[in-house]
Amino acid sequence: MNTDLDQVWQDLALCQEVDPELFFPDQGDHASAAAAKGVCAACPVRFECLTDALVQRERYGIRGGVSERKRREIKYLPHRCGHCSSPVLDPDPRRVYCSAICRSSAEKSRRALKRTAA
Ligand code: SF4
Ligand SMILES: [Zn+2]
Repeated sequence: MNTDLDQVWQDLALCQEVDPELFFPDQGDHASAAAAKGVCAACPVRFECLTDALVQRERYGIRGGVSERKRREIKYLPHRCGHCSSPVLDPDPRRVYCSAICRSSAEKSRRALKRTAA
């Protein structure tokens, strides 16, 4: 059942603007899978999408940038990156950032803030 909240994030889904088939690549079609994951990487609702797919145990297609095979391996819900709000695929809550790029960007911002305050 879709709630109003589901509708809000689904309205922002970037995949609405591309061929839906892209998100259901044939086995071994790495080029299509990479293209779909590229769309997800730029999608503003990636966290909501992946969380929904995990909660609903969505069996087919790439959701939130993660293939169905990889989703089957995930036994926890993601948390949000402290910098970009993307999903962090690590059950350890001490892992604050989704990537080294986000960690380093957050550290740079913190240093810049400190300089401004000094
Ligand atoms: S994360 Fe990917 S599959 Fe999910 S809504 Fe965004 S573009 Fe679509
Ligand atoms: Zn991030």
